[in-house]
Amino acid sequence: MFDNLSEKLDKALHVLKGHGQITEINVAETLKEVRRALLDADVNFKIAKEFTNTVKEKALGQDVLTALQPGQLMVKLVKDELTQLMGGDVEGINLSGDPSVVLMSGLQGSGKTTFSGKLASYLKTKKTKKPLLVACDVYRPAAVDQLHVVGDQIGVEVFSDRGNTDPVAISKAGIAYAKANGHNVVIIDTAGRLAVDEEMMNEIANIHKAINPQETLFVVDAMTGQDAVNTAKAFNDILNFDGVILTKLDGDTRGGAAISIKSVVNKPIKFIGTGEKMDAIDVFYPARMAERILGMGDVVSLVERAQEQFDEEESRKIQKKIAKNQFGFDDFLSQIQQIKKMGSIKDLMGMIPGAGKALKGLDIDDDAFKHVEAIIHSMTPLERATPAKLDASRKKRIAKGSGRSIQEINQLLKQFDQMSKMMKMMQGGGGKKMMQMMGA
Ligand code: GDP
Repeated sequence: MFDNLSEKLDKALHVLKGHGQITEINVAETLKEVRRALLDADVNFKIAKEFTNTVKEKALGQDVLTALQPGQLMVKLVKDELTQLMGGDVEGINLSGDPSVVLMSGLQGSGKTTFSGKLASYLKTKKTKKPLLVACDVYRPAAVDQLHVVGDQIGVEVFSDRGNTDPVAISKAGIAYAKANGHNVVIIDTAGRLAVDEEMMNEIANIHKAINPQETLFVVDAMTGQDAVNTAKAFNDILNFDGVILTKLDGDTRGGAAISIKSVVNKPIKFIGTGEKMDAIDVFYPARMAERILGMGDVVSLVERAQEQFDEEESRKIQKKIAKNQFGFDDFLSQIQQIKKMGSIKDLMGMIPGAGKALKGLDIDDDAFKHVEAIIHSMTPLERATPAKLDASRKKRIAKGSGRSIQEINQLLKQFDQMSKMMKMMQGGGGKKMMQMMGA
């Protein structure tokens, strides 16, 4: 995410790190580079200029702060300003109605239908809500089908009325259906166009007026950069929406939309979409995003994701097995599955401070575990439980079955062996010993 911007900002701020003192000259040089980095990331010219002016004022006003290194002080100032620019505080969505109605707006292809599903799934699991999805795209039957597919996938009911060509009537009927059937959140997916046009704006404005939603969300594709900001402005002028959903942040996004949108429409980004799958949704935390942009990682989100996916019972089972020396390949497989549930490996690595830079240009294969899984799947239950049994002929058979080389199998066995030893050591209170081994 935002690799280019991160790299350029890092370079710009690096210059200051070698200096003992903040002077007007080195601040000006650094900020020129910072501004250039922002412009390259497709941040609006005016915003980039204001941004650097504010940081400059603050930096020069703080040269008395001798406790911090100038480089660190600048990084902090830039981080604080970026956070401010992207919204400051986290803003949730208003679910106060009964049912609470959430209206989706945005261009065609921005990710409205996908996000409607993600939000329904998120609310269902995290907030114990009972959502209803309502399909209001009366122009594209495929869009209605798509919402039904999404609903089936996440186990959320979808209301549609295929013969009806009046989106206002469908949305009203959907809300009535929700009331009658105990749904406490209604998410209305609407039709978009490829570009802003009067007809679409009138239609969404009419729906908005008729149903008076608690929350109107504007969905926008982050890859569209400055266009995203302009579209946001057009929709906000008509709808005065409550929040922005920035999708496709998993792609090669430059970052301009994320950084500029809040200050242009003065509405917070509430959620981000980071993939096509239904669980690729994240609450937008401006401070965490600023830290990620500056290559400081996002350890908090990483830990949260791990906690969400952490299966306590499974973990207890595995601990017992380790203690009894019974940790086998089946357990190894279940560990891999847990890691995979946390999301794409590249995304996870990006949350580790400094890792973004180190990984630049490295092609991390999200299917990296596939080979390991194939090898384990080719083992018999006995072999999985007692890897020591794997002699040359068994290895040959597994290699054939999994389509991997003997060398790869040996490598996996070696890794497995090391991992088992390490786990055993940690179990036996050998944490200290291990730290010593690692040279700490
Ligand atoms: P709509 O026309 O606004 O309803 O847009 P869709 O929900 O149909 O999304 C358009 C395309 O973008 C689909 O192929 C989605 O799978 C894809 N998409 C939506 N959100 C994301 C996201 O966060 N990341 C990625 N990579 N693709 C997304």
